[in-house]
Amino acid sequence: MNNVSDLVLDGNATALLLQQIFAPDIALAKIRCEACDCVSSVGSLALYAAPMGAVLHCADCEGVLMRAVDTPHGLWLEMTGARCLRF
Ligand SMILES: [Zn+2]
Repeated sequence: MNNVSDLVLDGNATALLLQQIFAPDIALAKIRCEACDCVSSVGSLALYAAPMGAVLHCADCEGVLMRAVDTPHGLWLEMTGARCLRF
């Protein structure tokens, strides 16, 4: 393997890893806020619920960490306000 392109695979190669990451109870996962670096349990975040989905805010700075929406076109998860999730 002498070429970097030999290391590039398509997203299907991560299926098992991603299934392991998203299978545990998300409420127990720790989430780090991008804005203030606070770490909280997802289950302890402030939830603003709406008929189509939910917006979860940081418990410390009230920044938006996650948006989850259920639409006719699929389930959407946006996490630009979060630095990482730890399960
Ligand atoms: Zn924050």
